[in-house]
Amino acid sequence: MPVMDQSSASHAPFRCGYVAIIGAPNVGKSTLMNALLRQKISIVTPKPQTTRHRVLGILSSDSAQIIFLDTPGIITPRYALQESMMLSATASIEDADVVVLLADASRRGQEEDEDLAFQHIHGMQKPVLLVLNKIDLVSKQELLPEIEAVARMHPFTAIIPVSALREDGTERIIPALVPLLPEHPPYFPLDIVSEQHQRFFVAELIREQVFLKAREEVPYATTVEIVEFSEREEGRWLIRAEIYVERDSQKGILIGKNGAMLREVGSAARREIERFLEHPVYLDLRVRVREKWRNDEAWLQRLGYGHDR
Ligand code: GDP
Ligand code: MG
Repeated sequence: MPVMDQSSASHAPFRCGYVAIIGAPNVGKSTLMNALLRQKISIVTPKPQTTRHRVLGILSSDSAQIIFLDTPGIITPRYALQESMMLSATASIEDADVVVLLADASRRGQEEDEDLAFQHIHGMQKPVLLVLNKIDLVSKQELLPEIEAVARMHPFTAIIPVSALREDGTERIIPALVPLLPEHPPYFPLDIVSEQHQRFFVAELIREQVFLKAREEVPYATTVEIVEFSEREEGRWLIRAEIYVERDSQKGILIGKNGAMLREVGSAARREIERFLEHPVYLDLRVRVREKWRNDEAWLQRLGYGHDR
């Protein structure tokens, strides 16, 4: 956050509010949130639909607190898990004081999903900031007509071209958001960046490696449950996780020849988890089959994909 002049900071009212980051799958929503928070709060992979829950990221300063809601991409749902993902995106938009609509400058206009995201804000009364991402992939000449085209689609409060990946232009986003927030005392303590439990992040970091290493439908059929998390007094903490897939064939792929794939997932996930927890861990992974879990409402609830509205 920008450093504030002491005298003005003490007089300015505190501002606090929710900002939903929405957009088509793969436009860079999680990358942007991590860049704004300067921390890896949300997992990022080259595959669409990595983000399943809404993930809160909290950014505080002396004068403002922004609670970001990273959301699953806006799509037409095909199974119950995707329905729950969409409900979570819609709920975030409803809860938000300000919406950041993220679009991909390099692919805009080519994607049905992107139109769907624009439809979501049609006629919306809340302030909407359009962030045009991935400008590192387009030339200046291509960018200008892009900006003019999106400007015609909605009365956006501002249009900010950025590269979330290179953190280019992203420093303009926070100063644009703060004045749009309501005057309100902070909702969360000023020193926390998220309200999710460590277990959630650990499960997400394992799921991230499955997304990065396994092919085709396997990542989408995968979910992770942490069954033990023991912060032992001495030595490595013990984390036992169960990775669920929907079919035996997927289990076979995930385990790999002589367990090679699972070992690869496990050692990469362990490194990420240790970096996140700042503590060495022993990671024990099991793969199990649960048929059609993506359409099993009770199971989705248990895994925390449920929604309370
Ligand atoms: P989400 O589905 O909208 O959350 O998108 P992610 O944040 O998971 O990013 C999807 C992919 O786009 C990842 O491979 C990112 O590294 C990539 N990406 C995100 N931002 C940028 C950017 O500014 N430039 C480029 N070239 N790639 C980006
Ligand atoms: Mg994401």
